[in-house]
Amino acid sequence: MDRRAFLMLLMAGVADPTSNMLPPLTAGAPTPQAPQPPKPVVQSGDANFDAWAEAFYERAIKAGLPASLLDRELAGLTPDPRIGALDTRQPEFAKPFSDYIKGVVSEDRVAIGRRKRAELQAFLGPIERTYGVSADILLGVWAMETGFGTILGGFDVIRSMASLAAQGRRRDFAEDQLMAALKIIGSGEFPRSRLTGSWAGAMGQTQFMPTTFLSTAVDGDGDGKRDIWGSSADALASAANLLAKGGWVRGQGWAEEVSVPPGFDFSVTEGPTLTPAAWANLGVKRADGLAWSTADASADTVLIAPTGAGGPLFLLFPNHFVIRKYNNATTYALAVGLLADRFAGAGPLVKPWPVEIPLSLPDRIAAQQALIALGFEPGKPDGVVGINTRSALRAWQKSRGLTADGYLSIGMVGLLKAEVPVLGPAPPN
Ligand code: CA
Repeated sequence: MDRRAFLMLLMAGVADPTSNMLPPLTAGAPTPQAPQPPKPVVQSGDANFDAWAEAFYERAIKAGLPASLLDRELAGLTPDPRIGALDTRQPEFAKPFSDYIKGVVSEDRVAIGRRKRAELQAFLGPIERTYGVSADILLGVWAMETGFGTILGGFDVIRSMASLAAQGRRRDFAEDQLMAALKIIGSGEFPRSRLTGSWAGAMGQTQFMPTTFLSTAVDGDGDGKRDIWGSSADALASAANLLAKGGWVRGQGWAEEVSVPPGFDFSVTEGPTLTPAAWANLGVKRADGLAWSTADASADTVLIAPTGAGGPLFLLFPNHFVIRKYNNATTYALAVGLLADRFAGAGPLVKPWPVEIPLSLPDRIAAQQALIALGFEPGKPDGVVGINTRSALRAWQKSRGLTADGYLSIGMVGLLKAEVPVLGPAPPN
């Protein structure tokens, strides 16, 4: 083939008739239609954030999110400088359990809850019948999450989740939430401007994460929208749906204050799962002296002494652990349940909360180091008094003939330090 015929063939293959450029004849040279290098997804001026956005864009495309949605919602995005500090803050002093409960189960809040309970019966009743979850518990969740829908948080969820993802510590979690938030916007259900929440991405009156919104939010007032921001009925029905899906046992309690006989062996706290009937054999009774309901009598329950042998004691029912789908902390779930009891008309606890002395981080770490040195297993000495630390403490207390309630008081810190003097002097009493 001569050069001219070859050119003709090439020209015939040029799709764009307006193109006046011939492809070069040298093999391997770039074609004029070669794509320009793509523009960076985000140019925030923060190199780490921009690099994350670039990689996230690819992952989001692979996950099936449309490029047009990503281009629009990621345009002009910058990291929120507040997120890093909020995500890693750690208080020097752990707030004592009793202070936390006294703060959140306040008389003001009980009064508001009782008023709401009466005012909102028109939709609380049907929600309770549909989902089988106590309306008082829903009011408790609502109170704890947003002060009955009054404190929703004004963070742009897209920006918060992008900032959290770019930091990397919780990247997979944050990217899942970001993709879910983008899906909500992409579906047209709610615009970006409505997707506001806490710094951690929890949205609306009952603080749903975007993935939970997609899977679990429901329309409670029948207008066809799942507006957990603007509709209390939607938010509370969504919370009921979440708890029902989490295994809520209809008609059963969540926790009950109990009393124990003198000389009770507290090493069974956070221990075996027994029915109230079996606990009764060990002398454990309802603190109010009433008999167990039929539904409660057959439940598997755990005994806890959150402020030690001197404070109120509780049997936790399976529903307590369902509340922890919201926030996996005993304090939180107990607070929700105690609020619910008060909304329903119950008085304060039979045994008052004791006054607790806050422990400093060095003292908590020293107690854990002492337990390790003495051959017990509290886990990593990180100052977080979790179940491993409490178990180790119970074992040590039991071995020393002390009340084995697993409660790390300032007195216990002193005794532990005295056994392992290298850890420094005992704290002042
Ligand atoms: Ca609705």
